[in-house]
Amino acid sequence: MDRSPIRAGVIGYPVGHSLSPLLHRIWAAREGIEIEYEPVEVAPGYDAFASAARTLAAQGWRGANVTLPHKENALRFALETGHASDTAIEAGAANMLTFGETLYADNSDVEGFAAPLRNLLRPDDRRGRAVLLGAGGAARAIAVALKRLGYERIEIANRSAGRAQALAEAFGGDVVAWEGREAALAGADLLVNATSLGMSGKPALTLPLERLPARAIVCEIVYSPLETALLKEARARGLRTTDGLSMLMGQAVLAYRAWFGATAEADEDLRARLTAALAARGQA
Ligand code: NDP
Repeated sequence: MDRSPIRAGVIGYPVGHSLSPLLHRIWAAREGIEIEYEPVEVAPGYDAFASAARTLAAQGWRGANVTLPHKENALRFALETGHASDTAIEAGAANMLTFGETLYADNSDVEGFAAPLRNLLRPDDRRGRAVLLGAGGAARAIAVALKRLGYERIEIANRSAGRAQALAEAFGGDVVAWEGREAALAGADLLVNATSLGMSGKPALTLPLERLPARAIVCEIVYSPLETALLKEARARGLRTTDGLSMLMGQAVLAYRAWFGATAEADEDLRARLTAALAARGQA
């Protein structure tokens, strides 16, 4: 019987900061499964990505997570050499490649975002108007998730208006001027920060939350630091929240179950260990 470790990893640029290796190793250790999960830095550009993906497949890797700036390259590579899920095609990007007879690409950011929000939603919550800040790769996956969760209207505000327009056209959303983001909060049922604002090393997100109704939910996808100013204010106002770590753990569950084992859970122990790892870097 082959007892060599199952190999997988995460491709990005840069990728040294990724929490994915730690996360997968924690789950594997719990199950007593031998894995090797490594970060692989691949320079931007489709050719570099395609060459790396071919090499990893030839080395017997079972799968690879894909992060910035390669999620669109991953989908293109899969469409050229294998196949992709409807979710990845709808999101226009893939963050998960499974190697095998044929390559398969998926986008687990969609369910990674949706799962914690679904857990928070009460039966009487209106799924009316969602305000989505950002129009990058993560925002696209979140727009897919919001549609699937049944939000009736998605209002997109982004610094670059052209990207907001493109996202709105792709998902039947409405564009809100970046300067109009605070006014858009009046009467909204959901607010999502899918920009990188608030992340360590980036400017803060300036957005007073007074206009949000008490029933609104606030979702943050930045996880470094874990408690952003947005989350702090939302919690101080008594609003329900989901944080970036919930999304990160949620997307990883799908990859782990596809490649390694059956029992990955985004539970409190995992959260505590990832929070400790962020704290050790001064980012919790
Ligand atoms: P992209 O680079 O594709 O998009 C970045 C977004 O942030 C764009 O909307 C961009 O606006 C906006 N932005 C960046 N700087 C500024 C600024 N100074 N002022 C206003 N807007 C700004 O990145 P992603 O979509 O992949 O990721 C966004 C964030 O989400 C990152 O912090 C990332 O770490 C996090 N993330 C978290 C995940 C999780 O599992 N928790 C999963 C994926 C991402 P513009 O279009 O104008 O440039």
